Amino acid sequence: MAPPKKGDVTAEESELLKVISEGNVQEAGRLLGSKNVRVNCLDQHGMTPLMHAAYKGKAEMCKLLLQHGADVNCNEHEHGYTALMFAGLSGSKEITRMILEAGAEIDVVNSVGRTAAQMAAFVGQHDCVTIINNFFSRERLDCYTKPQGLDKEAKLPVKLAGPLHKIIITTNLHPVAIVLMVKENPLLADVDALRKCYRVLDLIIEKCMKQREINEVLAMKMHYLSYIFQKCISFLKEHENKLDGLVKSLLKGRDTDGFPYYQEKFIRECIRKFPWCEATLLQQLVRTIAPVEIGNDPTALSVLTQTITGQIGFMDAEFCTACGKKEADKRCSICKTVIYCNQNCQKMHWFTHKKVCKKLKESREKHEAKEKSKQKGKQNTSETSVGEAETVPESTEYSSTIHPTSKDGSDSGDIGTGMIAEAKTPQEDLTTEKQSSHPVATCRAEE
Ligand SMILES: [Zn+2]
Ligand SMILES: [Zn+2]
Repeated sequence: MAPPKKGDVTAEESELLKVISEGNVQEAGRLLGSKNVRVNCLDQHGMTPLMHAAYKGKAEMCKLLLQHGADVNCNEHEHGYTALMFAGLSGSKEITRMILEAGAEIDVVNSVGRTAAQMAAFVGQHDCVTIINNFFSRERLDCYTKPQGLDKEAKLPVKLAGPLHKIIITTNLHPVAIVLMVKENPLLADVDALRKCYRVLDLIIEKCMKQREINEVLAMKMHYLSYIFQKCISFLKEHENKLDGLVKSLLKGRDTDGFPYYQEKFIRECIRKFPWCEATLLQQLVRTIAPVEIGNDPTALSVLTQTITGQIGFMDAEFCTACGKKEADKRCSICKTVIYCNQNCQKMHWFTHKKVCKKLKESREKHEAKEKSKQKGKQNTSETSVGEAETVPESTEYSSTIHPTSKDGSDSGDIGTGMIAEAKTPQEDLTTEKQSSHPVATCRAEE
């Protein structure tokens, strides 16, 4: 059959386009079996059936079309839109992922010079932006499981490719979450394995920075992961309590306000050590982070997360205080200012949170009382109680200390800022570092 031309569709093909927009997968399947239907036919605008299905957000349909050989990189659309761009516009995370896994190119631009990620961002589909920016195919990693050139041995043992890939594509950059992923996999939680992994990551960074289409975002992410792996190695080698010790250091809050000081320093230090000093992304990060005094907003983690994943609003109350996972909804029943995904995360964080929990409770109550008196006179808006689930610690470790307070609600919108507003000066033993508390700034000076 002749290669598809714009607008040159058979009767069955136009029927296919119709059933695609209706979402009739069964009928589409039947039509695709007909010899008069080309899976990559083009309508008058140069749109393929896959583009139509992606734009309409029909995941099952996309799957069917891909099974029938739909070309993810067809670029005949009149404005240069690709199937991935349509997926991003639709906001369907599933379709975006599916099309990426089918080999869609990420850096293609449309007629106005926008990539799929930029298009998705433009219409506010941030989850799709995250998925696109963090995509790294398994095949790309699998290259390192085969010996290359004169190497006798592959750089990455086959058994490590799966666990490493899982970490590479994570969108939760919280260092604790990453250390836990290492810790929970016995294949990875090993000095030798981690060494191999971080060396592969370093090779990927080099590739990202040297290829024609430089990908600084991916390079920065790989650098961050490599840095964490190296930290894991040093804890495995030198510390009694191994990776638990690293998790504890990363979570430990300073006495004044519970702010995770070490974690902040750790991330700043990591950014500063990015090997390509002149990278635009690095300079952008430095400009944003350096002027912020440790303990204030934004945190290095929130800036890094936003840069790498495109996620905004890290200060929302919906992120787990311990591991950074999204959509956490269990609140500490005493202070009600921190949230966790589950009791494990709460337990993990309790050793440090217990020191400030009461203080946080008091400041929250003070804040609420102020708000109340402000509102009084204006209106008597009834105070609705929070919808979020309360964590009522059941374990004996807590029940002695945590007394769940009454049903008074706290506005989740206040949590993030409330906690950070509390942060004042760093505690005594850190004062010496106050002047030089912008470690990331030094890299710029080398220009
Ligand atoms: Zn968590
Ligand atoms: Zn608390």
